[in-house]
Amino acid sequence: MHFHVLTLFPEMIEQGMNTSIMGRAIERGYISLKATDIRDYAANKHNKVDDTPYGGGAGMVMQAAPVYGAYEAVKEQIGYRPRVIYLTPQGSTFSQPMAEEFAREQDLVFLCGHYEGIDERVLEEIVTDYVSIGDYVLTGGELPAMVMMDAISRLVPGVLHNEASAEFESFQGNLLEHPHYSRPEVWHEKRVPEVLLSGHHANIEKWRREQSVIRTAERRPDLLEKADLSAKEKALADR
Ligand code: SAM
Repeated sequence: MHFHVLTLFPEMIEQGMNTSIMGRAIERGYISLKATDIRDYAANKHNKVDDTPYGGGAGMVMQAAPVYGAYEAVKEQIGYRPRVIYLTPQGSTFSQPMAEEFAREQDLVFLCGHYEGIDERVLEEIVTDYVSIGDYVLTGGELPAMVMMDAISRLVPGVLHNEASAEFESFQGNLLEHPHYSRPEVWHEKRVPEVLLSGHHANIEKWRREQSVIRTAERRPDLLEKADLSAKEKALADR
């Protein structure tokens, strides 16, 4: 998976993505990450890339030409027209199924806006997907791009080793994951549930599944409507 980020703040992406599991995945070549500075494609000596909005109003708008120049450079480098994700609060809300779909691409381009946003005309020409990370407004698209790259990278074969596993995780089958416990057996007078110490795998699996159902009913009842539950599990969720 090759990530290409078009941004006014490449250092934010490089610093944010080069640690822990992501850093190691880059180092080992499971994913690659290149941040392209949109400012490098400004056609003026002050590297200015924004201007006031036509029609008036507060704030600045990122101009079309430098954004298009940065996109063309990536397209030329990879040799085909890639999927381009514009991070925007006006997009579809990012989700695990979307991460799974994007993880099947070879290259993904993330376009990060700033200020009031980007001139609509270049968006019309290059953007294939409008994605939001939630119903709130941030100052820029860099954090949303990093959120998406993190979620997508975890699904790329080889990225997760023993540190974590994508085998069963929250949102699979529309359930949240069960709780986790580690050593010691007693902490602050709270004991680890007995079944987890039993070594009985079938009982452990049953307990975990029940905990997933209970937890989802408590925290995200909206998910349960689409979950495939047995009659017994439905009764558990309704308790
Ligand atoms: N004027 C825009 C609006 O009202 O829709 C908001 C612009 S925001 C201040 C600046 C940039 O931050 C956007 O162009 C986008 O790239 C990014 N951004 C802000 N909130 C976001 C969100 N919830 N999801 C994804 N990107 C977001």
